[in-house]
Amino acid sequence: MLAPPVVKDLVLVGGGHSHVSVLKAFAMAPVAGLRVTLVSRSYQSPYSGMLPGVVAGHYQSTHAYIDLMALSASCGVRFINAEVSGLNLTGRAVQFERRPPLPFDVLSLNTGSTPQVASKPIQDDPAVLVAKPIDQFLDKWRRLEAQIEGASEQLKVCVVGGGAAGVELALATQFRFRALALPPKLEIVTAGGDILEMHNAGVRRRLRRILNERGIRLTTDTRVTQRSESGVTTAAGGNIECDAVLWVTQAAAASWLAESGLDSDEHGFITINEYLQSTSHPCVFAVGDVATSVTQPRPKAGVFAVRQGMPLAENLRRAALGEPLKAFKPQRRFLSLISTGNRYAIASRGRWSAEGQWVWRWKDRIDQRFMHRFTPDGAMRPEPDRRLPVSFAALMPKSAVADGMRCGGCGGKLGADALSQALRPLKIERRHDVRSDMMSRDDAAIVAVPQDRLVALSVDAFRPIVDDPFVFGAIAANHCLNDLYAMGAEPQTALAIVALPVWPEAKLVSELHQMLAGAVQMLSAAGAQLVGGHTSEGSEISLGFSVTGLIDGQQVLGKRGLRAGDKLIITKPLGTGCLFAAHMRGQAHGSAIATAIETMRLSNRAASTILRTHGASAVTDVTGFGLVGHLAEMIRDSKLALELFADSLPLLPGALDALASGWYSSLHAANQRAAMPWLSADNAIAGSTEGTRAGAIRPVNSAILFDPQTAGGLVGGVPADRAAACVDELRANGYSLAAVIGSVVSAVDPTTEERDLEIAHIRLC
Ligand SMILES: Cc1cc2nc3c(=O)[nH]c(=O)nc-3n(C[C@H](O)[C@H](O)[C@H](O)COP(=O)(O)OP(=O)(O)OC[C@H]3O[C@@H](n4cnc5c(N)ncnc54)[C@H](O)[C@@H]3O)c2cc1C
Repeated sequence: MLAPPVVKDLVLVGGGHSHVSVLKAFAMAPVAGLRVTLVSRSYQSPYSGMLPGVVAGHYQSTHAYIDLMALSASCGVRFINAEVSGLNLTGRAVQFERRPPLPFDVLSLNTGSTPQVASKPIQDDPAVLVAKPIDQFLDKWRRLEAQIEGASEQLKVCVVGGGAAGVELALATQFRFRALALPPKLEIVTAGGDILEMHNAGVRRRLRRILNERGIRLTTDTRVTQRSESGVTTAAGGNIECDAVLWVTQAAAASWLAESGLDSDEHGFITINEYLQSTSHPCVFAVGDVATSVTQPRPKAGVFAVRQGMPLAENLRRAALGEPLKAFKPQRRFLSLISTGNRYAIASRGRWSAEGQWVWRWKDRIDQRFMHRFTPDGAMRPEPDRRLPVSFAALMPKSAVADGMRCGGCGGKLGADALSQALRPLKIERRHDVRSDMMSRDDAAIVAVPQDRLVALSVDAFRPIVDDPFVFGAIAANHCLNDLYAMGAEPQTALAIVALPVWPEAKLVSELHQMLAGAVQMLSAAGAQLVGGHTSEGSEISLGFSVTGLIDGQQVLGKRGLRAGDKLIITKPLGTGCLFAAHMRGQAHGSAIATAIETMRLSNRAASTILRTHGASAVTDVTGFGLVGHLAEMIRDSKLALELFADSLPLLPGALDALASGWYSSLHAANQRAAMPWLSADNAIAGSTEGTRAGAIRPVNSAILFDPQTAGGLVGGVPADRAAACVDELRANGYSLAAVIGSVVSAVDPTTEERDLEIAHIRLC
């Protein structure tokens, strides 16, 4: 069933503790026509309650992190991995440093906080672990962990901040390294008169006792201001000696918020009302640490962010539909469970406190349950209703709702105004040999071709593989340029071929602009100029490019020409097909998808030159037909055979897991059918014997051979004595998994002068 049109955009910025609940809420009850987008600078977000447990060593980091990319995919939410740098509130768009603004109808901010640090040098000092933003906590912790474990003498760690997080981290750190021959000495330094000043006296007493028992020194009424050569400097001018610092002070607002124009409090946090809505801009909502409620102020703690999740989801839905909002009243007294590192915890609520191992088990149960809610389970989402809410239907193009009849031919394309709105802001670098550009209104682009050059042409188009239009545009352009790189052509021009569904015009303008901006970035880096294109109406989005490249007639290198004795080299790892099949159900790790996206955005431009420099005899690109499908084209009608080193195939992380779990691309079966006749009798193909010459089965991970690749690597034959140097150079130029994956041999047996097999073939070794 086709997805409903996009009529309104709800943009969630930050994958904090509240927004993860919003994702689940919209997965369970989607609003037809409302596209939900999560923008986060990290593809995973930590659950703060479990971070001290990670430090103490009770949990692996993966247990304490919510995979935002996978969760979004499983909830049917678009995920954009980018850092927001500002807001255009009049134009209703979220701004970034290196990509076009993203329009919104309703915006929600859950971006957390940064710590109050006296100076930037502290934040940048590798010996200082600044606990916030918490999405960057773990990387910094790993560095500190290595520093402590690798120390040849006893280190002193100073924890700046005596709130719950500071005390928990100090105790967890002490517990973690208790067994070292030289465990670090710890000292908590706090500006306040006591630790945990927001909690009752019983909690403070219990924690002071535990700190004392565990040998953690406490220094109160001391404000740390700077890092000094031998430790930290205090406001009173003193120096506390230490080797490393854990900085866990009160929360401060991110600087870009101050310039956003949203009303804020004296600390720069966005002020919100009882509807969790900005006090100055009704289309903006804010929750968690980044917001301060003017009607019900509460401390900055993850527990409040968690509680705001469901009421926020309800009000975002109402705001999008134009319905009255519902007031939310947070609890005044709340339960805190503060861990002491050794599977022991203190409970605090109002004036009540308690402690014990049972409190830790209680906390552990609550935390595990919370994390379980946000682990994608691959379950099918309810099919979104295509019927738009009445208020949304009014925003659709009249012809789309009046009688359902849409014109074909040239009536089915984007209007001139809308098109120029999408194209005008593109920053297209002009080439000297292109005589006209897209805005010159000529009917066709005029391009000069130097006399000594030939023109290489290619075309490709496909549906989005990722849901970020900017990234999709870049990948689509890169994929289309691959054919030119394989032949050794220098990219010159591109014509865009776009299909767009029936959405309100403003949505189409933005979508087209985002896709083309991503594409232009990739084309410009390749030296190609976007010279025109065509849009047409389609049932769903698709994008492709017809590309031209210039090539010296003497240098043309095709698929044919492999020589017996060559080594086969591939420039990029395999696995995009199965990984994205898994991702569509939220069943691939965000880190694996992030790596796959990075690989798909990696241009083969330099690789093409490197292969040629090392004497490549034939080159092709690995795309839709999978590795074996494309290799087969290289030896078709030849007397050559390929020996493929199955264990040397470079794979994207997570690809084999995806295949093992049965996530196959929809083209996989057809690729396998087509490729099987090429695989020689002694080949062993797990999972299928269909079409093999002998049908033997060896349990190799051979399914990857048929996995279709988007913007995949180049594969080429290089003389054996140049292969190692070629791979080294590829790796030094960013193709970190480039590898020799096989050899080219003769298919004719030299002793009998007979062919080993009837035709050219591929043998797995
Ligand atoms: C070690 C430690 C332990 C803690 N333990 C507890 C506890 O047990 N209980 C408790 O209640 N509180 C605890 N806290 C406090 C808690 O971490 C914060 O109050 C909580 O994280 C705030 O949650 P949030 O949802 O507002 O934002 P966060 O959880 O900080 O999430 C913010 C998200 O926004 C994203 N983001 C930020 N800026 C941008 C941007 N410009 N563009 C795009 N994305 C962006 C980040 O990547 C992140 O995903 C602890 C804090 C620390 C440091």
